[in-house]
Amino acid sequence: MLPVFKKSFVRSVSRRFQPVSDLVQTLLFPPRCLKCGTYMDSGTADPSAFSAYFCKSCLGSGPRPFEPPFCPWCGHVFDQGENHLCEACLKKNPRFRRISRVRASLVYSGVVKEAVPLFKYQSRLSLARPFERVLFRAFETYFMEPEPDLVLPVPLHVRRLRQRGFNQAYFLVRHFPDLYFRKFHRNPSWQVDIASLKRVVHTRPQTGLDEKSRRKNLRNAFQVSPKAQSRIKKARVLLIDDVFTTGSTCREAARVLFRHGADRVDVLVLARA
Ligand SMILES: [Zn+2]
Ligand SMILES: [Zn+2]
Repeated sequence: MLPVFKKSFVRSVSRRFQPVSDLVQTLLFPPRCLKCGTYMDSGTADPSAFSAYFCKSCLGSGPRPFEPPFCPWCGHVFDQGENHLCEACLKKNPRFRRISRVRASLVYSGVVKEAVPLFKYQSRLSLARPFERVLFRAFETYFMEPEPDLVLPVPLHVRRLRQRGFNQAYFLVRHFPDLYFRKFHRNPSWQVDIASLKRVVHTRPQTGLDEKSRRKNLRNAFQVSPKAQSRIKKARVLLIDDVFTTGSTCREAARVLFRHGADRVDVLVLARA
């Protein structure tokens, strides 16, 4: 019979041997810059830091953090001044505003613009680590008071999921409950929910489409699963995605969530374009 070990024991053993396995990994596969391929000296590289994946020259001045001044509604980042509504939000009738707040970890520029497609289209899954860490920091900054009821990664259509092999939005929050527990020493009241919202239409890639065509492309792309209807009703939902450009994907998802009685829909993305 196989010995049964307590989870905590297994965790502490694997933690103790982690440095050894990291060393073996480094000796066998010396780290190379994901962009230019240069071998990097990684003596003390922290696997949750961008510097573990990009050489100094590709990293440049590093990822630009998402920080004020920005538009309090859509998260559009300004170069200077105070937080204020952007032109696009001012033009829209607030009654039709569906998403309450869009917040991000990083600005979609520089090394981030290189790193996100590597992660998403070339399956550089190791990047999930630094991404998840910076995303959790933004979660702490913007979504702790009050906390959401559901953390909901934007789903992929099953066909796209099969092609890609993973949902990048889910990979950005997979360990959120663990990170939360480590930080606050209690379990979160919310859960990461990948069952409630489904993508039922296989849409063309959005890249290269203008906002109107994106909206049309996405119409009725999402559905709340029948079993989840009571969960969505009156819930404060936090949608998670990798990049927010025109926001048509999140807006369409929000439209469906509100139709099922969601109380509030906020958006947290890794990078705001
Ligand atoms: Zn490089
Ligand atoms: Zn705005």
